[in-house]
Amino acid sequence: MKIARFSHEGAIAFGIIDEDSLVVLKGDPMFAGYEPTGERVPLEEVKLLAPVIPRSKVAAVGKNYREHASEMGGEAPAEPLLFLKPNTAVIGPGDAIVLPPQSDRVEHEGELAVIIGSIAKNVDAAGALDAIFGYSIANDVTARDLQKRDGQWARAKGFDTFCPLGPVIDTEFEFEGATLETRVNGEVRQSGSLSDMVHSVADIVAYASSVWTLLPGDVVLTGTPAGVGPIVDGDTVEVEITGLGVLSNPVRRA
Ligand code: MG
Repeated sequence: MKIARFSHEGAIAFGIIDEDSLVVLKGDPMFAGYEPTGERVPLEEVKLLAPVIPRSKVAAVGKNYREHASEMGGEAPAEPLLFLKPNTAVIGPGDAIVLPPQSDRVEHEGELAVIIGSIAKNVDAAGALDAIFGYSIANDVTARDLQKRDGQWARAKGFDTFCPLGPVIDTEFEFEGATLETRVNGEVRQSGSLSDMVHSVADIVAYASSVWTLLPGDVVLTGTPAGVGPIVDGDTVEVEITGLGVLSNPVRRA
């Protein structure tokens, strides 16, 4: 099932994608189940929004693909390297990534996003999978110069608009054979297989839950494959994952 959050005629709602239309739901399916209102709206008439606004946090893991770790000048860490992005960084499909004046080098990082659906604390790998509501696509936008200068990542990864998310949540996503591709103005920059993750989704969520209580609506980013690179004013960046669609965002200077 593919779930979208959208605005239509001034109202925000959730819906299930059924070919080229949306079956409108009465509430947020994460909390209210899948009760339809009886209304359907054509997909082309709605604006898709970020499918979830994390109520507390976007947790993320760095250097989780070996080739990306080596392009950053190191090795993949033995334990997941965790950081946080604030929920104010989240934007939806089609919304602009805004380049902040403090940085001269902002880069894309296409990633698989995990959407947490139930409270998880100190869960094991099996418990982690039980806590997952579904999967989406994210761009872990990073001010690379500030990341190097600051020595920690709160500013470099935390600017407003630095976490595009969407276009939908898929509750039945299949990892098997899934690939991730990031394109800038149509040119392929990143192309990787999700099976190349160093730490699995279940292990990352379990590990994160040993540090933080994960809440319904929290998002966990799982790292980016090799090929990160700059985005500049006027670019369009697309991240595509097999079965999850394409997350597309324009880039503009503040
Ligand atoms: Mg990343």
